[in-house]
Amino acid sequence: MSDTIERPAGARPEGFGGVVLTGAEPAYDEARTVFNAMIDKRPAMIAQCESAADVVAAVKYGVAQELEIAVRGGGHSVAGAGVSEGGLVVDLRRLNSVQVDPDARIARVGGGATWADFDRACQPHGLATTGGRVSTTGVAGLTLGGGSGWMERKFGLACDNLVSVELVTADGRLLIADETKNTELFWALHGGGGNFGVATSLTFRLDELPTTTLAMLLWPAEAGPAVLRAYRDMIEAGASDNLGGGVLFLTGPPEPFVPEHLQGQRIVAAGAMYAGPEAEARDAFAPMFALDPAGELVAEMPYADLNSALDDPPGYRNYWSAEHLSSFPDAAVQLFCDRSADMVVPSPSQQITIPWGGAVLRGADEWPLPYRKAAWVVHPFGLWSDPADDARGRQWSRDLCADMKEWATGYVYLNFIGNEGQDRVIAGFGQENYERLSKVKCEFDPENVFHLNQNILPGWPDSSAG
Ligand SMILES: Cc1cc2nc3c(=O)[nH]c(=O)nc-3n(C[C@H](O)[C@H](O)[C@H](O)COP(=O)(O)OP(=O)(O)OC[C@H]3O[C@@H](n4cnc5c(N)ncnc54)[C@H](O)[C@@H]3O)c2cc1C
Repeated sequence: MSDTIERPAGARPEGFGGVVLTGAEPAYDEARTVFNAMIDKRPAMIAQCESAADVVAAVKYGVAQELEIAVRGGGHSVAGAGVSEGGLVVDLRRLNSVQVDPDARIARVGGGATWADFDRACQPHGLATTGGRVSTTGVAGLTLGGGSGWMERKFGLACDNLVSVELVTADGRLLIADETKNTELFWALHGGGGNFGVATSLTFRLDELPTTTLAMLLWPAEAGPAVLRAYRDMIEAGASDNLGGGVLFLTGPPEPFVPEHLQGQRIVAAGAMYAGPEAEARDAFAPMFALDPAGELVAEMPYADLNSALDDPPGYRNYWSAEHLSSFPDAAVQLFCDRSADMVVPSPSQQITIPWGGAVLRGADEWPLPYRKAAWVVHPFGLWSDPADDARGRQWSRDLCADMKEWATGYVYLNFIGNEGQDRVIAGFGQENYERLSKVKCEFDPENVFHLNQNILPGWPDSSAG
């Protein structure tokens, strides 16, 4: 335990009903640990909230004590935004209830719920919406940043399905933002992330999704260009919006469906996350089956199982980046495949390309996320265990993005990257939307209390001068 942090003596936010950890408690170390093992911050206080009133008390306390406030949900920010060094963590993990109204087809979830909480509660009703690609990500963190997931070509981004958000602002007010109340704030919460306050609950519209199919086909890495070209052609020929997934390079896992000689080796895989039964999925994915995969796993399963089938393991070191492409010609395919040779292998590192289009385009002009117009997303996400691989893991991600520049739209999805500077934050929204978001920021958080995030500066562009 470090003695270097000055902790407020006997501190406890007034009226706070949750658990306060200040460093001496056995639970402190677990509570400050986030997904990326590179992050090792020691907050002065972790306020584990059990109600919206606790969040209000914690935020008021942090502001009064001038503590740097971090908001912690699923802990998946690879930049470690969910924890602050020497500051206050507003920990929402106990706010994880999910109430499903199957008749109204809506679900109301606590600000600290994960997608596992969400999917498991909706599954018995055969209802769902787009969630994260793994089940351990926080619902609020992912959705407020946009929310890309396997079902996005069918249901849109997660934020497209938001009905309302209950939010604690920097001055300790509890507000509702929806289509009729605080409408400009509601607009900003469709991608603007945690910049405007702490979401204590979010309400989502649900759709029917009685069954899904997971198909994972794999080949030796050398087959990459042929696999990726076939996949691209299949999508661009007008694949069904029921078909989500992507092509990825990864280390062959020690699973029964992976031939022994490919386990621990760099391989290429084509994944179909299909909104429907297996027979339909096989039809939709026929061009990939035709490439004679070396291994395959095909199974029909409930969506809650599909969405947790590929959960990334915690405890690894992480560096992530992304580019959005307007097209994916053969030259880009070749560079994408060549660069996979630099991945840290063996490790859970992956580089994936995801097809967009379909319902992702919905709301492209309505909400502040112009990158939706991209046809393809390229996303290197490095996970490795040895600190000696840090430089290599980072460089491979950066090099892949640099390789793709010729085809990049210039916009980027901020949930897929770490800290890449203010220009990249602006590229997450485009100048016009960023300026509008900055005005909302001015109204709800003029002092930039909530700045541990992909930060929108209040009063921009004037604020950028000084
Ligand atoms: C393994 C893994 C898989 C991922 N997969 C996807 C994916 O498929 N699609 C995708 O879009 N993104 C994905 N991400 C990125 C992820 O969506 C973002 O990092 C997101 O911010 C994580 O939210 P969190 O609550 O889990 O993280 P935290 O680190 O707890 O929070 C990150 C930030 O989110 C904000 N935040 C969280 N909760 C709240 C709240 N209740 N109110 C206000 N602000 C809040 C805060 O600004 C906070 O700093 C993935 C990340 C990981 C590590």
